[in-house]
Order: sequence, then structure tokens, then C-alpha cells
Amino acid sequence: MKIIVLLGAPGSGKGTIASRLARCDAVRHVSSGDLLRERVRHADTPASREAAEAMRKGALVDDHVVDELMLEHLQACAPGETLILDGYPRNERQAATLEEEAAIVGADITAAVWLEVPEPVLISRLAGRRVCSVCAANYHVENMPPRVEGICDRCGGKLYQREDDQPEKVDHRLHVYRDQTRALIDWYASRKLLVRIDSKKDADETAACVARAVLA
Ligand code: AMP
Repeated sequence: MKIIVLLGAPGSGKGTIASRLARCDAVRHVSSGDLLRERVRHADTPASREAAEAMRKGALVDDHVVDELMLEHLQACAPGETLILDGYPRNERQAATLEEEAAIVGADITAAVWLEVPEPVLISRLAGRRVCSVCAANYHVENMPPRVEGICDRCGGKLYQREDDQPEKVDHRLHVYRDQTRALIDWYASRKLLVRIDSKKDADETAACVARAVLA
């Protein structure tokens, strides 16, 4: 099993690019945010209520909760698969745990792709983002609109705006990114795994660049 980590600020396109890469055979998109949203929707426990509160504020969910969720997922993957991790790890502690988890399941972390986008572009992408309430597909009201307004092209589900895409939450998420997640760029560079990709462009073009760099 191969693991490719996608790095980048909120709005850098990790989910969009990962879902395009997952159109290739044996490539699977694993989004920690989607897994957490699913868990929070279905489990009414103190840990899931705490996770929901952190997500509403744009803060990070407790490392142990996320690590456990990801490990469950890694263990369920087939040996020949390539996993594209979107949103995990988000700090150095999680990155260290991922290395341990990969060793347990016999997976190789082969690359960490940094999707580079200037901050004003991130903010406009997050403000216009809409997400399918059924299959979690991402759209943008201007750059990537659905064929029918408010309805998912893929599954017909209703689109909604994530609560944490509101402007004040976005500020906080960007702060958390600068404070905790950005350090992973040096972490992976020091392991000679970092691949920098200009992600300002159109999603198909960016996905093609990433595929050429890490899936070939
Ligand atoms: P995302 O869908 O990746 O933007 O994640 C949405 C929210 O889920 C984040 O703002 C965090 O609250 C939470 N989250 C996702 N991934 C992680 C992670 N690796 N560690 C901690 N919290 C996470």
C-alpha cells in the first residue's frame, strides 16, 4: 500500500484534487474531515460532541480521536491500493503517528504534495464553496458550479455551505494552519518527500500535475 499526503491550507483544493486522483484504479481518497463529519453525524457520544464543537469553531479535533479514525481506515485498505490523505496529518504529532501507523499496516509514505495557493484565493474559494450533503462532493458557486443550482451533479443530493466556511471561522482555520500544519512542509522536506504544486490553476490542470508527479 502507498500513502500520498496532501498538504495545504483550507481552500487549497485538497478535497477536489484528491477526488479527481481517486478516479484512477486502486486510488482511494481518504478525507479526515469527511470521516469526522460522518462520525459526528452518527455517533452521539461525549467524544463526538467535543469533536463537533471543535469543528464548528474551526479548531483541531483531539489527535487521539483523529488518529484512531485514520488507523481504522488504513487497516481496512487493500495492499495494492494508493491512499490519498486529505487533511491528515495536520500537526507534527499526527505526522509521527502516521509514520508508526504506516509501518504497522506495511504501507509506504511515498510523497507529500504541497498545494500552494495565495491567501486571497483561499478566502474566495472557501466563501464560495458548497458541499453535497449526501456524497460530500465539492463545488464552487462561480468556479465550479453544479449543472442545477443547489443540487449535486453526481448524486442529486442537496448542496450546503459548511458552517466553518463562514468568514470568522475561516480566519481561525487559517490561523490554525499557519500555527500547526505549515510546519509539516519542513517535516516532509527533511524526509525528501515534499512535492510543491502550484494550485492556483483550474482543478483538472492541477490534478493532472499532481498525478504526473506522484502517481506515474
Ligand atoms: P477539512 O474538511 O479537512 O477542512 O476539516 C474540517 C475540520 O475537521 C477541521 O477544521 C478540524 O476541525 C477537523 N479535522 C479534520 N482533519 C483533522 C485532523 N487531521 N486533526 C484534527 N482535526 C481535524
